[in-house]
Amino acid sequence: MKKQDYREFIEQQEKQMLSPYASLSSQSKGRDRAVIPCPIRTEYMRDRDRIIHSKSFRRLKHKTQVFLLPMGDHYRTRLTHTLEVSQIARTIARGLRLNEDLTEAIALGHDLGHTPFGHMGEAVLDALVPGGFEHNVQSLRVVEKLENSGKGLNLTFEVRDGILNHKISGNPATLEGAVVSLSDRIAYVNHDIDDAIRAGVITKQDIPQKLNDILGNSHGERINTMIVDVLENSLLKPQVCMSEEVGTALNELRNFMFERVYLNPLARTEEAKSKRLLEQLYMHYLEHIDEVPDEFSGNIEEDGKERIVADFIGCMTDRYAVLDYERLFVPSGMMLF
Ligand code: MG
Repeated sequence: MKKQDYREFIEQQEKQMLSPYASLSSQSKGRDRAVIPCPIRTEYMRDRDRIIHSKSFRRLKHKTQVFLLPMGDHYRTRLTHTLEVSQIARTIARGLRLNEDLTEAIALGHDLGHTPFGHMGEAVLDALVPGGFEHNVQSLRVVEKLENSGKGLNLTFEVRDGILNHKISGNPATLEGAVVSLSDRIAYVNHDIDDAIRAGVITKQDIPQKLNDILGNSHGERINTMIVDVLENSLLKPQVCMSEEVGTALNELRNFMFERVYLNPLARTEEAKSKRLLEQLYMHYLEHIDEVPDEFSGNIEEDGKERIVADFIGCMTDRYAVLDYERLFVPSGMMLF
């Protein structure tokens, strides 16, 4: 087979094998800037690769999921969360005969706009920046405007739409986007339970028995129940959903996590300090705008200085923010003896 035929072969396979509700890569609404088609990869495979090779993707490894700057090696970070979402979403997409490559690209890109220190960092910037700050909107801004030295990744419409609309309140244009949105919830509720037990914030016995009866008793059993339920309720339908019983159980488990973990003072011990840290960094860079790196400051005329400072801080990892704060505000002693 000639190299040139390979992408066409996959596009042909998609037409033959995928559900009538799947997004075909050959029918993508395309990119803002036209590119020469790849001889090997489809448009969505190419988007997935562009995301994996981006700097913002690598930074996810030092960004908080729930536990700030975790010292234990086994806690999730934003990167491992992203990989778990991607794996769950691909399993569902394969089962529903949707486009697995598109699903994977959306999943790998969905959290690229997350700030340091998780949702707390997002809330701090949201309160400070005129026009607000939401991580899904910022994920889109990262791939459209900030990545690739300010040129953006030039992704297809379907991937950008799925990234923007991955929150519960979103309304993605493709079923692949809907798969990622639901997989995000399945992933974080379950892995956050696992991490909260690891941290001693809850015990296994704290999970309401009623929910164990419906979903199963372990991390693996719960994820399995949820995925099977999505497949049984969505196969060859123009929607991605759970049964009422399992959907309600997932929501109750999420409420349980809010009550016992996300809003628990033990899991939030460092929050006030991180909030102060980000606020001071924000004020510092507003006053010293010339210290903001070029890749962000190029947008100053179009977006204003508050937004570009938010871009810079939003892109920082937990560890970069702490080191930058130390560099700016903590005196370093000299060893004189
Ligand atoms: Mg997520």
